[in-house]
This record gives sequence, structure tokens and C-alpha cells, in this order.
Amino acid sequence: MKPTIMSLGNLRDLYQQVILERYKSPKHRGVTDPVHRRQRGHNPSCGDTIELTVQLNEAGDRIADVKFQGEGCAISMASVDLMAEAMRGKSLEEALEMVQRFQNMMKGEAEFPKAQRKLNVMQGVAQFPVRIKCANLCWHTLKAAIEASANSDANGFVSNENE
Ligand code: ZN
Repeated sequence: MKPTIMSLGNLRDLYQQVILERYKSPKHRGVTDPVHRRQRGHNPSCGDTIELTVQLNEAGDRIADVKFQGEGCAISMASVDLMAEAMRGKSLEEALEMVQRFQNMMKGEAEFPKAQRKLNVMQGVAQFPVRIKCANLCWHTLKAAIEASANSDANGFVSNENE
């Protein structure tokens, strides 16, 4: 059975509000122009499916823009919208560090520094083990997009089923 938004009742009200606002009115939905990386991701345990597109800078070592398409629960959609925002202007190295930090945050072992504190609204999800995959999906997918070479077949899915 698909857990509903009501199962987030224990989250702090402000955080829950931010998550729901992002879900209802995402700021980074769409496709980047041009598309330098494209990666789909799927979370079978909930049914969340996203497609990320990434635009790099001219040197190809920094993220200019990230956008997403797809459908999923409030947690997965809020996570990807917040991630897209946080990734703008980041070097690929910084982006991978942030992926690691987010995954550690979902284990209750880390949080983001002040400059990226918006991402900490997802912190409460760590208390809901079944939803952690929802929050991690986009980060997992971004990592695959960054690590894929520009020429590789980008139409494969990453799945976090075995995580
Ligand atoms: Zn989900």
C-alpha cells in the first residue's frame, strides 16, 4: 500500500509545509536547454519515476542547470526540486560530495551547512525508513548522470531497488 502524505504527521510542521509546497508548485520541472546529460531513475518500492536533464558549463566541469520530469510521491518530488536548485553552479566534484552528504543525512549522520540549509528540510524523512528511498532517488539518479560519460547510452534506468 502506498503511504500517504498523512504518514508525515510527525515531521516538523515547517518542513512538512515546504515539502508540500515544492510538491504542488515545483520550480525546476522541465528539460534543460541544451541537454548534456539525461538520466532516468525509478524507485520500485513507491513507484516514483523521474528523468533528470543536466546542462553543464562550457568547460563541462560545472553544473549550469538541472531540471526534472516525472511523477512520484511528495517526498520524491520535493527532494528532486530542492536538489535541482542546490546544484546550480556546483562543480561536478561538489555535486558528488553533496550526493554523499544527502545519503548520509538520510542515515541521520549528517546535515548541510548554512549555504545549503534548504536541503535540511528533508532531514525528517530519515525517521521514516520506507520513505528514504523516495528522498534518495533523485540524488542517486544525479550521481549516475554525472558519472556517465557524455557519449554513453543515457536511456537506461537507474533503480534503487537493491540499495
Ligand atoms: Zn515515493
